[in-house]
Amino acid sequence: MTMATWRNWARTESASPQRFETPADTAELADVVQRSTAAGRRIKAAGAGHSFTGVAVTDGTLLSLDRMSGIVAVEPTATGARVTVRAGTRLHELNEQLWMHGLALANLGDIDVQSVAGAISTGTHGTGAGFAGLAAQVCATTVVLADGSIVECSPDHEPDLFEASRLGLGAVGVLATVTVDCVPAFRLRAEERPGSLRGTLAALDGLVGADHFEFYWFPHTDGVLTKHNTRLPGSTPVEPVGRARGFVEDEVLSNGIFGAFQYLGTAAPAAIPRLNAVSSRALSPRTFVDRSYRVFASPRRVRFREMEYAIPVAALPEALGDIDRWVRGTGATVGFPVEVRFAAADDVWLSTAHGRDTAYVAVHEFHRRDHQPYFAAVEAIMRGVDGRPHWGKLHTRTAEDLKPAYPRFDEFVAVRDRVDPDRVFANAHLDTVLGP
Ligand SMILES: Cc1cc2nc3c(=O)[nH]c(=O)nc-3n(C[C@H](O)[C@H](O)[C@H](O)COP(=O)(O)OP(=O)(O)OC[C@H]3O[C@@H](n4cnc5c(N)ncnc54)[C@H](O)[C@@H]3O)c2cc1C
Repeated sequence: MTMATWRNWARTESASPQRFETPADTAELADVVQRSTAAGRRIKAAGAGHSFTGVAVTDGTLLSLDRMSGIVAVEPTATGARVTVRAGTRLHELNEQLWMHGLALANLGDIDVQSVAGAISTGTHGTGAGFAGLAAQVCATTVVLADGSIVECSPDHEPDLFEASRLGLGAVGVLATVTVDCVPAFRLRAEERPGSLRGTLAALDGLVGADHFEFYWFPHTDGVLTKHNTRLPGSTPVEPVGRARGFVEDEVLSNGIFGAFQYLGTAAPAAIPRLNAVSSRALSPRTFVDRSYRVFASPRRVRFREMEYAIPVAALPEALGDIDRWVRGTGATVGFPVEVRFAAADDVWLSTAHGRDTAYVAVHEFHRRDHQPYFAAVEAIMRGVDGRPHWGKLHTRTAEDLKPAYPRFDEFVAVRDRVDPDRVFANAHLDTVLGP
């Protein structure tokens, strides 16, 4: 099948692949990969196209695993269940299906439209100082290699390929299935309230002790919105957010009103500090209880560009202070709140939280504004505190300077050299961040 043009969600990347393939099962996937390799075409699988970089781009064969969706097996364990899922399954579909089994993913990011394979391949994470990112929940994978061979991977079988495939940027093969450690279904009590940046940073040690804590800081102001999500049993009754209040908060922070403010700020950047002050004051406290995945994720209808850095938690006040000083010192205008999240250290080779408890600092810019001066300034600050860039978001780092940031980088590259010496799964972006 041919396809005119593929574009990512942020409209920062596009591709015109020679072939577009949508295999229905692992055998068909293996056949497509084997034939593409034999024809000399490079191969990439794309999920929902929600990476901001060119990580999923190819001019060869572009695979969509949208037809490879749904749960394959559920194996109960002492702490929940190991669930094997087809790699193209979208997170929102998986969440619903898990709930029917009395199960849930332990943590999630702030949207749920990604594919399972795409989400783990770039290290997607949520917030919660006691919880690691999605790739850390993966306990087995089925990978199709460049020659079409199908390899079952786990810590006991092909352990190196397992490690490289559970956060692999699509560089070692195509994931056909992923097995995830799931927990019993749970609800979350969400408590959201406005506060001050100074007060939040002063109380940070206590705040990050919540199950899932994050905050949004509105540059040009001292205003923040804090979010504490507390885990409750799955049988806890739902307490819906009032319709009017839910509408106002979601619209002010992420969607309609927020979008209108972005257009206003683009036309008149000098108004941005006032618009931020209005936004931060418009938010009022609210509490609600719902299924975990309905609280973790929400729609994002305003298109933006994003860069996110993982830094040691202790460096957070200094890093935010430096961003604030840069904004004030240069007269730059920043219309999007800065999102701050937390995650536990993990052992995934290329995880941005590898080996250290982590704070994530995410900066955004409306798609119609030039993000580069702001992102370049923040990136310089993040480099200064040993930051690691999110693998699916914008940054300018290269293999040479990423390697010292990841103790297992060389092992990852060694697996890549072994299973894909001809770089069938490479593209320009991977040449930059992993090396040719
Ligand atoms: C609005 C928005 C909100 C976001 N929120 C968060 C968040 O809260 N937390 C967070 O950490 N990130 C977040 N992200 C980033 C996003 O989770 C990642 O970029 C993720 O990779 C997107 O998944 P996808 O299915 O769109 O994959 P794509 O972007 O399509 O692909 C990502 C990578 O996965 C590879 N891949 C896809 N399928 C396969 C497969 N079957 N086998 C092997 N490799 C495969 C691709 O080749 C590519 O390398 C957000 C992005 C957006 C646009």
